[in-house]
Amino acid sequence: MTGPESAPDRSLHRPATHDPRSTAFPCDTHTHTARCGHATGRDDEFVEAAVACGLGAIAVTDHLPFYWLPREEHDLSLAMPPEELPRYVDAVLELKERNRGRIEVLLGIEADFVEGFEGELADQLARYPFDVVLGSEHWLDGWCVDDASSIPRYQQGRAEVDRIWTRYAQAVVAAARSGLFDVLAHLDLPKKFGFRPSEAFAGREADVVEAVAASGCAVELSSGGLRKPVGEEYPGPGLLRRLVAAGAPLVLSSDAHAPAEVGFGFGDLVASAVAAGARETLVFRGRRRTPVPL
Ligand code: ZN
Ligand code: FE
Ligand code: FE
Ligand code: ZN
Repeated sequence: MTGPESAPDRSLHRPATHDPRSTAFPCDTHTHTARCGHATGRDDEFVEAAVACGLGAIAVTDHLPFYWLPREEHDLSLAMPPEELPRYVDAVLELKERNRGRIEVLLGIEADFVEGFEGELADQLARYPFDVVLGSEHWLDGWCVDDASSIPRYQQGRAEVDRIWTRYAQAVVAAARSGLFDVLAHLDLPKKFGFRPSEAFAGREADVVEAVAASGCAVELSSGGLRKPVGEEYPGPGLLRRLVAAGAPLVLSSDAHAPAEVGFGFGDLVASAVAAGARETLVFRGRRRTPVPL
């Protein structure tokens, strides 16, 4: 893993023409902006943080507005309002332009997959020139998997925890098969507060691995979980190994909600990816993938 190519001397001046392979890490594929209502910092501070930690690219992937709910039911502490979306796109495109030759800024979005609303989501995604679209499963049957207010659900006991994981797995399989996403985000999100499925879930995990591999979607290896009660990357080492073995490509991501979190734990992520058997990660531009060797 060490060598002149993978560990460049960052004190050297940057090349005029940008090449992700010449930087320490190719891309942070999952970052937010203050527009979502639960992130802090200015857009340009996220980009400067990406430059400072030696990233070749940063994908800005804020939460897509609640397209499956009527406007009055949108929770603006979880996603930007619909009228903000075009301004978000313009701001990221301007950052992309302004930083050209210095760091690559990619226009992305983190979109919830909600069964029954695939057409609405496809319409939203077709409207803007996204480089990368992340698919997430935060909402299961109207409740939020990763919100602290949901902890009492998990505390109902083993049977309920398994039921949640089973339902979650069904939703992830459907998201993978939808063809709407480039990358599937935090693939084992229900573990966030430390509630793990029992052995009985093993079969469902095999379904997830098979569907993800068959879909061609990339999977994010995210350091976000390291900053959560579970204290583990998404996906955890076992699931990551099975995904890589099944042929699922990886991207690296921090899920930064503050500039200081950009590139968080990327050294660990690369080590985990290599330990799981991965040999490359992907960078998406215009929703097309470019492999970059690890
Ligand atoms: Zn968020
Ligand atoms: Fe998410
Ligand atoms: Fe996110
Ligand atoms: Zn996220």
